[in-house]
Amino acid sequence: MLLAANWKMYGSPSQLAAYCEELLPQLEGCAHQVVLCPPFPLLPQAVMLCAGSELAVGAQNCHWAREGAFTGEVSPNLLAEMGVSWVIIAHSERRKLFGETDDTALARAKAAQEAGLSVIFCVGETLAEREGGETLSVLQRQTAVLAGLDPQKLVIAYEPVWAIGTGHNATPAQVAEAHAFIHERLQELTGQAVPVLYGGSVKPQNAGELLATPGVAGALVGGASLDAGSFFAIIQAA
Ligand code: PGA
Repeated sequence: MLLAANWKMYGSPSQLAAYCEELLPQLEGCAHQVVLCPPFPLLPQAVMLCAGSELAVGAQNCHWAREGAFTGEVSPNLLAEMGVSWVIIAHSERRKLFGETDDTALARAKAAQEAGLSVIFCVGETLAEREGGETLSVLQRQTAVLAGLDPQKLVIAYEPVWAIGTGHNATPAQVAEAHAFIHERLQELTGQAVPVLYGGSVKPQNAGELLATPGVAGALVGGASLDAGSFFAIIQAA
């Protein structure tokens, strides 16, 4: 399974040092792939601390250009050269708050893969879309752009927007339905099976049930990943 920690805009150098000191020894011999995605400025420290460990390092976004006049943006090539191996693309917070569209997300994902990064591509419906019976059509639209990506370097994260940071995770039945749909879509679009993670209020208490749901290949964890103990409890539940 793949367990990814999305720190969002939290964390500091001292928190990262303490986190790695606690988590890295526990991960020795871990059967799962584990990825830590801290804010950009913490990436060099994370790469240094995690070198030779079971913890890979990921970024939370990247630009679509190799370099250029893009003030405030970060190139996937720079990330790759620094030793970062994963990147989260199209997180719902990027879509909602920073104008990410299906097309810009695709451009970022393509550039990331070309730079050698593996992509965690986020999809998921809002509460209004779910209540309006549009969940599967939203997933259909959000995944439609993925045909051009390399399936070997691609993982999808199904993150219903209403479950993110709310404490209300999707039910196993809702997860199973969405994951089955996404699996079928990705098989159709890329000709291969692509792993699908669940994200949205994953905690130590619900991780076992969510990760045992058919079609779930791991989790993208926000709030509960900030504490090394609770993130490790989620990894242990996998
Ligand atoms: P959450 O966030 O675990 O805090 O709900 C998940 C995410 O946004 O990736």
